[in-house]
Amino acid sequence: MSDLRDLYQEVIIDHSRRPRNCGPLARHNHRAEGFNPLCGDQLTVYLKVADDIIEDARFEGTGCAISTASASLMTEALKGQSTAQAEALFAAFHAVLTGAPAPPDAVPLGKLQVLAGVQEFPARIKCATLAWHTLHAALHDHAPAVSTE
Ligand code: ZN
Repeated sequence: MSDLRDLYQEVIIDHSRRPRNCGPLARHNHRAEGFNPLCGDQLTVYLKVADDIIEDARFEGTGCAISTASASLMTEALKGQSTAQAEALFAAFHAVLTGAPAPPDAVPLGKLQVLAGVQEFPARIKCATLAWHTLHAALHDHAPAVSTE
């Protein structure tokens, strides 16, 4: 189990140091900004959605290793997913992090599973979910800025 934990940590460190899909997306049609005042994490999520499919997803911002790694992993997971699949992924991810019982139809987390260990650090859960809350806002074109508070 500790080997798995080390592997998970390596993936998180790798994604925080070399975040994927980082930088603005020129041809986006959805966008939202998120802020986690508990930690100071700040990010913008850009999406290109066509026919209800997320064709491209990018983010930019400044934050701690967990928030950056989570945003990086999220953008990788989103590409090619329908908006409904993205929301289902968020629900499953959120359940794992908060220790809530998984819904019976929970979708597999795939690589996002590496962040499951964050549930042991309640103060960091909002770092891990910030990108997803921001994604949710972007999909729904809510007010431009969301806060985890
Ligand atoms: Zn943070």
